[in-house]
Amino acid sequence: MSSRGRFAPSPTGPLHLGNARTALLSWLAARTAGAAYVMRVEDLDGPRVRPGLEARILEELRWLGLDWDEGPDVGGPLGPYRQSERLPRYGAALERLRAAGLAYPCFCSRAEIAAASQAPHGASDEGPRYPGTCRELSPAEVARRAATRRPAWRLRVAAGPVAFEDGVHGPVAHDVAAEVGDFVIARADGVPAYQLAVVVDDAAMQVGEVVRGDDLLPSTARQLLLYRALGVAPPRFAHVPLVVGPDGARLAKRHGALSLGELRARGADPRAVVALLAGLSGLAAADPHAACTPRELVGRFSMARLPREPAVLSPERIAALLP
Ligand code: GLU
Repeated sequence: MSSRGRFAPSPTGPLHLGNARTALLSWLAARTAGAAYVMRVEDLDGPRVRPGLEARILEELRWLGLDWDEGPDVGGPLGPYRQSERLPRYGAALERLRAAGLAYPCFCSRAEIAAASQAPHGASDEGPRYPGTCRELSPAEVARRAATRRPAWRLRVAAGPVAFEDGVHGPVAHDVAAEVGDFVIARADGVPAYQLAVVVDDAAMQVGEVVRGDDLLPSTARQLLLYRALGVAPPRFAHVPLVVGPDGARLAKRHGALSLGELRARGADPRAVVALLAGLSGLAAADPHAACTPRELVGRFSMARLPREPAVLSPERIAALLP
């Protein structure tokens, strides 16, 4: 199987126009390249997963005109993959990293990390840089602490920048050791971290190009370190700029942004939604004002023509989608 594309929604919030654009672009990149397309529901964050949302998200993506090729049951319905059904794979990857000495147990609490870190407001959203407190614990010390507290697991990160070529942003480099430090790959409650699960899955599903929102750009360097540690060739990456309101802030309710579900319930034409999203994406449609299906855009998509700046969407253009 050659290269595949994928979309990996988290059933923790409704799909909005920004997610829909990322989904459309990842689908078009795959279909234009003649590649298969994988749908993967990222439902590991138990408490944040909202019951019933997965079904709604998938229905709304279908309503938009997107389809996907593979499900967990060969020959069965083309359902999505679900991370919650793939836990043994993440456990096996963690075990490999552990056995190779590339991952170590960490007993620190959040408060301890904040107190020990010299940069309490670190560069990453996830909090301060991990100062390496548990990096060199002796086996005896690990055993002593494990008696009272379950550890998280962290990847040992080597010093120096991690560089890659992004399909939208060009050359990118992040110094993971300096910005984030040794990062968590499995939480103390046993749940694999997003970084580990996404790498295990993109590798197992033979994804050739990851197209996703550029809010995840800082995660990519961490993921590249995991590919390296697991001895797997990484995919290519293209990080799509976010959709923002006229004030430049991420598109939200106060911009009059309706979720895809609301647009659907209020009778919007999915083809008009697709045309609007395509118009924000440098796609040359035959008739720029005509409503169209994703299928009609296959062959017209080019990552090189995708604007690198955030796509601005005004309340008027959103309101114009409603009949
Ligand atoms: N599940 C993630 C999200 O919805 C996307 C992960 C990815 O595309 O790598 O933000």
